[in-house]
Amino acid sequence: MSISRAIAEQMEGSSWIRRMFEAGILLRQERGAENVFDYTLGNPDVEPPEEVVAALRRVAAEERPLGHGYMPNAGFPDVRAAIALGLTGRIGIPFAGEDVIMTVGAAGAINTVLKSILDPGDEAIVLKPYFPEYRFYIENHGGRVVEVETGEGFQPDVARIAAAIGPRTKAILLNSPNNPTGAIYPAETLRELNAIVREPVIAISDEPYRALTYDGVRTPETLACIERAVLAFSWSKAMAIAGERIGYLAISPRLKEAAPLRNACTFANRILGYVNAPAIWQRVVAQVPDAVVDVRQYQAKRDLLCDALTAMGYHAPRPQGSYYAFPRTPIPDDIAFTALLREEGILAVPGVGFGRGGYMRLSLTLPMSRIERSLAGFERAMRKVKGRSAAPPG
Ligand code: PLP
Repeated sequence: MSISRAIAEQMEGSSWIRRMFEAGILLRQERGAENVFDYTLGNPDVEPPEEVVAALRRVAAEERPLGHGYMPNAGFPDVRAAIALGLTGRIGIPFAGEDVIMTVGAAGAINTVLKSILDPGDEAIVLKPYFPEYRFYIENHGGRVVEVETGEGFQPDVARIAAAIGPRTKAILLNSPNNPTGAIYPAETLRELNAIVREPVIAISDEPYRALTYDGVRTPETLACIERAVLAFSWSKAMAIAGERIGYLAISPRLKEAAPLRNACTFANRILGYVNAPAIWQRVVAQVPDAVVDVRQYQAKRDLLCDALTAMGYHAPRPQGSYYAFPRTPIPDDIAFTALLREEGILAVPGVGFGRGGYMRLSLTLPMSRIERSLAGFERAMRKVKGRSAAPPG
């Protein structure tokens, strides 16, 4: 057998999101697609903003000699300079083009920095519940995952994080707005974290959902609050272009080791096999870096779903950002409850998939009309569990 033991084990323990995706294919075959309500995958269901498509057309029509060739590993210098300028204005720290490395999505950015800082056995802290791929990214580079529980409202528990930092800690992954909880971390919390993120620890701020916020809330700037931080960003969600794999890693110039880290990350980006981020998309995002899909549609779906679930007796607070809701399951066994939902044609990811049982993640990336049609199934599933607990012992 030529498959490595490590990858076989990783696949075995692999993500619930994928498992539910596969369950969905079977369910569709059994019941017909119109009777299946798939809340599992976080794939934007809207078209990219018109200005993005227009910029893509312009860039594609340009006659740029060797415009499709290799480039410096960190990306086109003019694109990096344009992004650095935007970051400087937004964050209030003077970024230069050399602080920005164009990457293959946020996933590419996170892997690039982890590859650059982890020695085998080094530790990276993740806050539960968390995006399950973090475990694979950390283990890809010989790191050890240290899970730390969040506090009220899934906010970072600074005291617990401080207690988890040890001599081998190299990184702490922060994700705000959060997948799966939708929580946004306030600047005050980030500043408290600044006091405990000390050399050699680096905060990796994973922000693909930065622009997806609701009710006028804005995502605080982690790099303004935490000195020892890098930013992993992608336009996957903001522009609904997840398949195009375009993002960047920004290294805070306030890091003492910024220069060697930039070099290491540029090298790591190459040797991980990405070599460079997609050329044409670098040019597109440089033209319209702040374009965002209409977030009001996600907000309307969030309100419809969370309010309906709350009225049925679920604990389903509205998330502040991202496009996920993370309600409590009405019974503690989230795997059993998502199986009940499956009987209703509803696919949800159990919270254990993110390291937090007793919850489920519902992605708001299905059409409004599908959400409306799914509500009766949520109600029946709730009635079933209430019926069970009310039933006399027999
Ligand atoms: N981080 C989080 C929290 C995510 O949810 C995702 C994708 O869903 C990623 C990183 C990866 O983003 P990208 O597809 O831009 O690489």
